[in-house]
Amino acid sequence: MTAIDLRSDTVTQPTEAMRRAMAAAEVGDDVFKEDPTVRRLEEKAARVTGKQEALFVCSGTMANLVCQLCHCGRGDEMILGDQSHVFYYEQGGSAAVGGIHHRTVPNLPDGTMDLEAVAAAVRPDDVHFPRSRLVIVENTHNRCSGMPVDAGYMGRLKELAEKNGLAVHVDGARIFNAAAALETTVEELVRDADSVSFCLSKGLGAPAGSLVCADSDFIAEARRVRKVLGGGMRQTGVLAAAGLVALEEMKDRLAEDHANARRLAEALAKAEGLSVDLERVRTNMVYVNIDPRRGPASRFVELLAKRGVLVFATGAEQIRAVTHHPLTGGDMDRAARAFAAAAGDM
Ligand SMILES: *Cc1c(COP(=O)(O)O)cnc(C)c1O
Repeated sequence: MTAIDLRSDTVTQPTEAMRRAMAAAEVGDDVFKEDPTVRRLEEKAARVTGKQEALFVCSGTMANLVCQLCHCGRGDEMILGDQSHVFYYEQGGSAAVGGIHHRTVPNLPDGTMDLEAVAAAVRPDDVHFPRSRLVIVENTHNRCSGMPVDAGYMGRLKELAEKNGLAVHVDGARIFNAAAALETTVEELVRDADSVSFCLSKGLGAPAGSLVCADSDFIAEARRVRKVLGGGMRQTGVLAAAGLVALEEMKDRLAEDHANARRLAEALAKAEGLSVDLERVRTNMVYVNIDPRRGPASRFVELLAKRGVLVFATGAEQIRAVTHHPLTGGDMDRAARAFAAAAGDM
């Protein structure tokens, strides 16, 4: 039997419809803005996020980096969560490439940052200090259990940002999961953001690519930055074609992934040696604590793999399971049995 791979939603395979669309895609040189399929994808992304324009880039990391470089100059400061993907998992790219200073504020368990803490992190106008330019919100919040961040919070953050001359960027790698979980639209969730990035290659199932969405001036600048980062690709319509299918056919099924995560979590909550906070299972991620008296999470991961289920350890006592297409409720039941057995093996 093939393994149930719950390491990440990035392991999704392109669907048959994507492969057909890729094979048939009309393409051109996208650096000359002559790829009609890329342009269609960018127009669709702009529409769905409610922004003027969009730009297709290689990855979520590149999308976030392009946005940071557009919002901030060398020596400027940005405020972001201490558990954020940009801070944790992107090599501090904007410091390395753009000389941008990172100022972290603690993430709250719901993935937000306390607004008073954000306000307190804004630098006064003083020759000693860098200038605060940007605040970044992650939605859904990966290291905070995949929690969705609602539009009400964004509105309050925007008010604070405007008062303090900050731009707002949303790292929306999984913003479609957030919209599904909150039963709202992506447009609503990013109305108060100056820029947003999202991934096609996670739960949406496309093989590669992310989009940056913002107003037209910002996207013109983002296009220049993408080029200097080496992201000016040519006949990328073959990838964009899969992205179009992702936006047309895959976003409305994300609620299934969320239901599967819940089904798995509810089963695991009953297993001995494992614990799950069910209230924190809101999207497609299940964080599971392993009783440390039984052994480290890394050992649990190995034992679980022997039983045909793959996950990542995210801490000494914690693992993460991510649901995605085309896993089914039956797969969740099978995975839950393997979890219970692996806990027993420890
Ligand atoms: C995956 C992810 C990214 C980066 O995407 P890549 O395409 O892997 O570079 C950015 N932010 C968050 C929250 C992510 O989960």
